[in-house]
Amino acid sequence: MRDFSYLHAGSVDAARQAAALPGAMLLAGGTTLVDLAKCGVAEPETVVDITHLRGLDTIAVDDRGATIGALARMSQVADHADIKSRFPAVSEALWQAASAQLRNMATIGGNLMQRTRCPYFRDPANFPACNKRSPGSGCSAIGGVTRGHAVLGTSEACIATYPGDLAVALVAFDAILHLGDRQVAVDDFFLPPGSTPEREHAIEPGEMITAIGIPASAAARRSTYLKVRDRQSYEFAAASAAVGIEFEADGRTIRDLRVALGGVATKPWRARAVEEALKGKVLEPEVVRQASLLAVEGAVDHGANHYKIELAPRVVARAILKMGETA
Ligand code: FAD
Ligand code: SF4
Repeated sequence: MRDFSYLHAGSVDAARQAAALPGAMLLAGGTTLVDLAKCGVAEPETVVDITHLRGLDTIAVDDRGATIGALARMSQVADHADIKSRFPAVSEALWQAASAQLRNMATIGGNLMQRTRCPYFRDPANFPACNKRSPGSGCSAIGGVTRGHAVLGTSEACIATYPGDLAVALVAFDAILHLGDRQVAVDDFFLPPGSTPEREHAIEPGEMITAIGIPASAAARRSTYLKVRDRQSYEFAAASAAVGIEFEADGRTIRDLRVALGGVATKPWRARAVEEALKGKVLEPEVVRQASLLAVEGAVDHGANHYKIELAPRVVARAILKMGETA
């Protein structure tokens, strides 16, 4: 880990100005940044501490939706009574992420900005070839061990999975990120790798996430986050689904449906084809199972991650059917 200078930002504007300088990185909970600095992936010249900035850790919920400050802790949001009742998928996604200690330390803004767990990316000493870390150097994962890698949204340059849980629920419910002077839909914030996998977010120098807005909807109110993983806690998703559903007055016909996938794609993945196939249909198990296969339309595997193409539709179907049982 190389030496760096430490800057205690006095305000949001000061933080944004400092973070715009070359080699500067924001420090929130530090649970990702310190890890990446230790393994030699992050090499900040200046660490800009924002943890103490006032007004960025508030959570406000009303009939229009929720506004969550970027410095709110994961555990604080997961446990918030109005988030639990009006956006259960958001609360559940956070509860199933990381560990209790990490959730108490880590912030919402930092969570969205976390980086891939691709083992080649995180081991520069042994795997110099990584297009995300060193553009143009190649990809050690393609042709390597790919069990955790993505099957959707991949490119010839990079097949790394986006690892976070919260962003999957946010994409399903059309959340908006506040970046200071502008706002961006979460779905547009995360970029697919294409030929520039080093560019992961639509964030510009001098910008930082200040808050997240989630519009209220009936689908968000009846929602869930289902996460399948190798062990039942402290593990990233092999496949996950955020699902929200609104029924017509008969309680069986689907009026609105939201589906997003985690653990299987290079970015949080909205499965609009599944949504469109089921809107207006009566919720029947076989219809749901067939429509859920559309979640992996266009998927490409690299050998050991083939199981994700079978697993993801099952996770989607299970989550939708679970929501049907609550109708
Ligand atoms: P930091 O480490 O402080 O920052 C992370 C990055 O975000 C840095 O690049 C920083 O510069 C940038 N940043 C921070 N705040 C802002 C902001 N406001 N605007 C712009 N950029 C900003 N996550 C899951 O979702 N699911 C899991 O199952 C999971 N398991 C984990 C298991 C382990 C062992 C570990 C170590 C982490 C795990 N995580 C998981 C990731 C964890 O949730 C993140 O490390 C955490 O949310 C990051 O938040 P932080 O506040 O600590 O960010
Ligand atoms: Fe790097 Fe992406 Fe290849 Fe992993 S999959 S080694 S992050 S280029």
